[in-house]
Amino acid sequence: MTTTSPAAFLPVLEQIAEEISRTPGRGRPADYIPALAACDPRSFGMALAEPDGTVYGVGEWRQPFSAQSVTKVFTLALDLAREGDELWEHVGREPSGNPFNSLVQLEYENGIPRNPFINAGALVVTDRLQTRTGDAAGELLAFLRAESGNPGLDFDREVAASETAHGARNAALAHFMTSYGNIDNDVPVLLDQYFRQCSIAASCADLALASGFLARHGIRADGSRLLSRSQAKQVNAVMLTCGTYDAAGDFAYRVGLPGKSGVGGGIIAVVPGRCTLCVWSPGLDERGNSVAGVAALDRFTTLTGLSVF
Ligand code: GLU
Repeated sequence: MTTTSPAAFLPVLEQIAEEISRTPGRGRPADYIPALAACDPRSFGMALAEPDGTVYGVGEWRQPFSAQSVTKVFTLALDLAREGDELWEHVGREPSGNPFNSLVQLEYENGIPRNPFINAGALVVTDRLQTRTGDAAGELLAFLRAESGNPGLDFDREVAASETAHGARNAALAHFMTSYGNIDNDVPVLLDQYFRQCSIAASCADLALASGFLARHGIRADGSRLLSRSQAKQVNAVMLTCGTYDAAGDFAYRVGLPGKSGVGGGIIAVVPGRCTLCVWSPGLDERGNSVAGVAALDRFTTLTGLSVF
């Protein structure tokens, strides 16, 4: 999809890109997945999608990157659309205050993860989507292709293999939750689905467009309804409170929008009723959020006054 109506915020995005280009200190790419460690921390792209599918951006906004945990928003939405509130009996919706791959909380909360965006919670969501569809990652990929209008979106097999080779922590989480009866599928099947999900390569343009249903109160790009208005609000609320690892409070304070980050350096953010944004820069801070990405979104809400507060 190309720009078909005036790109109202393009000058703002250009100003932000220019400011970011002058900012030293971009953090470090994730190195626990070797395939991500090679990324250049100075890469930067930012896209904005209007509810009508108009999309525009600055920098490397058409460059595919590893979507990683950004995909957790879409599997949550796809599963919620199918099973509704029953999901919340298997995963909570409170911030965890622990790192994204933490095991500790599971033991004293009976194998029920705190929220769908830490790894344990995302594994539960993918497991439930797998049970309902037989191919959670394929379902996700088809959804992202349809919403972005980009049939070329795909899994990155090198990243998925790299995650599988370094997946002991996620395997431990899945086995531990299995012991509480909170995982249905065999762990190797679930991990294969989850690692392929995380490996999807997409650009800022793709992910800003794919998030559009969250700005359109649950309506997909083709006009059909994925989520009820209330469910779309719920997903946005969980993004705001839990979407940026154990820095969600700081993200809400600085940016003031529902957002979801991933260790590939991408962050999506939603201005409900108005637009969606995706920013990418692979250098991360110590909590796993893109340094330039958070800074860019902070500047966006400051310069435009658009936030949920
Ligand atoms: N694939 C990553 C993992 O589970 C996702 C990490 C992330 O982006 O938070 O380790």
